[in-house]
Amino acid sequence: MIPDDAEARRAIAPVICYPTESLPKPALGLYRSALEGAGVVASVIAPPREACTFEVRAGQFFRITCVEAPQVGDLNLWNAHDLAERFFSGKTRALHGTHVTTGDRLWSTLPSLRPMATIVEDALAWYGIDPHGGSVHDVIGTRCDPYTHRLLSGGNYHHCCHSNLTRALAEARAIPLAEAEAHVHDVLNVFMCTGFTRETGQYFMKASPVRPGDHLTFFAEIDLLGALSACPGGDCGAEHSSDAARCGPLRVEVLAPEEGALGDWRMPPPSGYDRSHGR
Ligand SMILES: [Zn+2]
Repeated sequence: MIPDDAEARRAIAPVICYPTESLPKPALGLYRSALEGAGVVASVIAPPREACTFEVRAGQFFRITCVEAPQVGDLNLWNAHDLAERFFSGKTRALHGTHVTTGDRLWSTLPSLRPMATIVEDALAWYGIDPHGGSVHDVIGTRCDPYTHRLLSGGNYHHCCHSNLTRALAEARAIPLAEAEAHVHDVLNVFMCTGFTRETGQYFMKASPVRPGDHLTFFAEIDLLGALSACPGGDCGAEHSSDAARCGPLRVEVLAPEEGALGDWRMPPPSGYDRSHGR
């Protein structure tokens, strides 16, 4: 039964859950000037339907570039010294919104809850929010995985981003697949264009607006181990979890700034909460 005051209740104005005015502001000007003099110290390729890993020191940058064809990437980040501290997609979403761009930060899991990386350049920043409610670089999806594929379509597909990330981490750290799989987590969907339908609230994707040469550049706030999967969905304009889409590689470059370029910048400490939880 619809209550008499249904419209009045629906008309209540929303309140932003996490006003971010009080968040420490990233030193974007400093990061950008350090990036200007930075040089590439490592370069790896995530081949189509595969993943690569890379290490970035605190104070360095990493840049993800679309190389040949419109291609979406699924990114995982860990503290290079403690895989238990990893990218926290849900809290990043709560703080910065459904999609991230220049100036937004990728936050780590509790109890650390600190910025792991800050976006300093976004070639797709022009895209904004399209008429369908879609935008790029989302923190609302999870990653394509063989379990959901099996649930919906049956059969086993082994090159979902979840599996690609699992294999890549297992190889990078010389650990068993099952151990690596437990560390794989909800991703940043690099270059992916997604949203929720207004009518049904369903998660949708559409062909990514990314073009070869477009890139997304991050400042590493702490020592990072990263893994990037070139999604089997390609530009994710039609389907994923199959070999049907045209896929291309993604390049990851690590860049080191010149000595002294960051002044007295220091890596952010873990949260100062005392973890007594009221006891
Ligand atoms: Zn994928």
